[in-house]
Amino acid sequence: MSPTARPSAAIIGAGIAGLACARALQAAGWQVTLFEKARGPGGRMTSRSLAAATVDIGAQFFSVRDEAFRRETELWLKAGLVAPWPWQLWRVTKGQWHYRHDGRERYAGKPRMSAVTRHLSRGLALEANCRIVSLVRDRGSWSLQDQARQHHGPYDHVVITAPSPQAQELVAPHDTVLAEACEGVIQRPCWAAWACFERPLPTSAGVAHDWQAVMFSEGPLRFVARNDHKPGREQQGESLTLLARLEWSEAHLEVHETSAADKLLGAFRAALPDDTMLPAITAIGAHRWRYAQPDVFASGEAVNRDYRLSPTGLALCGDGWRGPRVEDAWLSGHHLGHALVANDGHATR
Ligand SMILES: Cc1cc2nc3c(=O)[nH]c(=O)nc-3n(C[C@H](O)[C@H](O)[C@H](O)COP(=O)(O)OP(=O)(O)OC[C@H]3O[C@@H](n4cnc5c(N)ncnc54)[C@H](O)[C@@H]3O)c2cc1C
Repeated sequence: MSPTARPSAAIIGAGIAGLACARALQAAGWQVTLFEKARGPGGRMTSRSLAAATVDIGAQFFSVRDEAFRRETELWLKAGLVAPWPWQLWRVTKGQWHYRHDGRERYAGKPRMSAVTRHLSRGLALEANCRIVSLVRDRGSWSLQDQARQHHGPYDHVVITAPSPQAQELVAPHDTVLAEACEGVIQRPCWAAWACFERPLPTSAGVAHDWQAVMFSEGPLRFVARNDHKPGREQQGESLTLLARLEWSEAHLEVHETSAADKLLGAFRAALPDDTMLPAITAIGAHRWRYAQPDVFASGEAVNRDYRLSPTGLALCGDGWRGPRVEDAWLSGHHLGHALVANDGHATR
């Protein structure tokens, strides 16, 4: 990088971490390009459009604990991209439904979870449908090779936000320290199923008719959300997202998606109070997230950073470097972006 040139960065992954990092860098005048293997931004905050409904198949809501993330959330609230949800949260323990009120601030994307990531991607250079398969280091710069053998670059920095097992494949030929750090982050799988119904769910005895989401203390399910009870989706038909417990997902990792969906809907049916009958199903399906949630993340290091930076300009961020939530992923990307700017492109480990 010449002293006068604007620093440049390639960011692999347009989930919330990559977008937060990209925005911090672009705001400081860096040249930034995002590379995303999917059709668009979102990552694990993605939503699927079905004929009858839009269902969130990754994150269902996010909570707010950190002040910087609160300020960002306030901007999203003002822009109408998120709204408080769920406030009718229930828990099922030993077959009993209980209203759960813990006073925690939670928000959902409006009218879909991916509204937030779409908004954040505006004004950023994004190469979608572009899976990066390797990195090349040449004369102090980085370039990327995609699945079609196209080269992109050169860049001063490469930021990798892919879940750690995928990040490891990219960094291993170049940096053993980063590769080892990736090995220490365990990302567990999760099945996410959905079901659309002909009619609204009937009222169940002892449960508010407008319940929005329910957590499960035991069994195959861990969380079920009513998508049509989320902000901005009041006009769509009844649909559920059913998230499996991580242990159950591991035990059923290789089952067919139809089988996973049937089993999870069956578990929900069995958990309904007394004689509640589900209406006829119009659509059902499931998505397997192989790397859904960091179970062991890279916390507690002496350096106490929620990202990793190498002296050659390689960097890692995302939820695996901080914690298992949307907020953690955003903070990791945001902090990395600011650290790169503060270092003025001169990376340290
Ligand atoms: C089913 C499920 C439910 C969840 N529920 C919640 C919840 O309710 N609340 C909450 O706070 N959090 C929840 N989470 C966690 C939350 O979604 C994640 O922590 C967060 O979205 C992670 O963001 P990220 O940017 O770190 O990673 P990602 O969103 O995974 O972004 C990484 C991106 O990199 C792309 N990519 C990977 N490899 C390559 C490559 N080689 N080339 C190009 N692109 C690549 C991927 O396609 C992806 O878009 C949930 C996650 C799942 C899976």
